[in-house]
Amino acid sequence: MSANNPWFLLALVATVGLYHLELIATLLNLSALKPEPPDAMRATTDQDTHERALEYARVTAKQGVMENSIALTLMLGFWFMGGFTWLDHLIHGWHLSPVARGLAIIGVMFMARQVVSFPFDVYDTFVIERGFGFNKTTLATFVLDRIKGLMLLAALGLPFMALLLWLFTISNFAALYGWLAVSAFSLLMSFIAPRLIMPMFYKFTPLEDAELRAKIHELSMRLTFPVADVSVVDGSRRSTKANAFFAGFGKAKRIALFDTLLKNHTHDEILAVLAHEIGHCKRRHVPKQIVLSLISSAVMFALLHFALQDPRLCAAFGIGRPSITWSLVFFSIAFQPLNLALSLFGGHLSRKFEIEADAFARTAMGSATPMIHALTKLSRDHLSNPTPHPFYVFLHYSHPPVLQRVAALES
Ligand SMILES: [Zn+2]
Repeated sequence: MSANNPWFLLALVATVGLYHLELIATLLNLSALKPEPPDAMRATTDQDTHERALEYARVTAKQGVMENSIALTLMLGFWFMGGFTWLDHLIHGWHLSPVARGLAIIGVMFMARQVVSFPFDVYDTFVIERGFGFNKTTLATFVLDRIKGLMLLAALGLPFMALLLWLFTISNFAALYGWLAVSAFSLLMSFIAPRLIMPMFYKFTPLEDAELRAKIHELSMRLTFPVADVSVVDGSRRSTKANAFFAGFGKAKRIALFDTLLKNHTHDEILAVLAHEIGHCKRRHVPKQIVLSLISSAVMFALLHFALQDPRLCAAFGIGRPSITWSLVFFSIAFQPLNLALSLFGGHLSRKFEIEADAFARTAMGSATPMIHALTKLSRDHLSNPTPHPFYVFLHYSHPPVLQRVAALES
């Protein structure tokens, strides 16, 4: 652990630099808030609702800065006080096999992160989201979701991590095999998540509204987009925020509409939202995003291959006997900026795709109005910040801000 070690400097600059980047983006975002609702929102948003949106933006920003500051302090404190060395000695004392030891290290690091973020999540859900009327979750559902999530992660993640660590112990080309394994795993997950995992958290029931069913059927026939079934998801049990999504590959698609979307929107607006989702499928946005993420992870694994050869990576964190697991952990810390750069590209692409899907919905509906109404109402109901700072959008937004989408629809 010294300033002569390039990994030490890289990891320190990455950690502290990203914290400050986030802080600057948040401050810029707060300074861009406007006291009055923008003209395009006036039809749906009154002054009161707008002021609640401003308050929501301020409260969530404060919460984010606080959580990041505490996480940074704990991380630097743990690092500089020899926490990694201590943990390495502790786990070595358990006399495990190399793979099991690796899993123990990753498990402990992961649980530590969970323990730090848990109080913030509780505050976020039960104070902020409840205070603004979004949260409908009971403490029991919240805790049960957590336990289910952790069990699922353990059931899927641990065997996968074991495979990855084992590959690194047997082969010099492990980075290549690792990339193939991660690619296969994420493709498999995107396939099974909506079928197996979503139903573990939500209840799906067939859509009862016969008139809406007929209209959806008509829309899907007109767009030559065969739909196998339309179901309703009980999103309102957790949050009042609305959503719609698709599941299914190949010919038969399944549509799932959140009950919150059904409750607050007209049939035309719901159809516009569906047409937007169909637009994503028709323009092959998902496969394009999958290809991009495979390329990003290939870049990361290629760099990992070189980082693993260098014992100074582990030394930078006070680990005297380098191991694959520690190298993986420290690599993920030192290469955060590159990871961010890759995700910025992904975000840019995603925002471009949203504009394309909106344009598809406008054509499908024969008018921009239903989509504009749906977007402005969703923005109002989610208390979205209508005027986020462009730098904040650049860093974080997967969807363009509502005003930009409305302007594109009107053009
Ligand atoms: Zn979209």
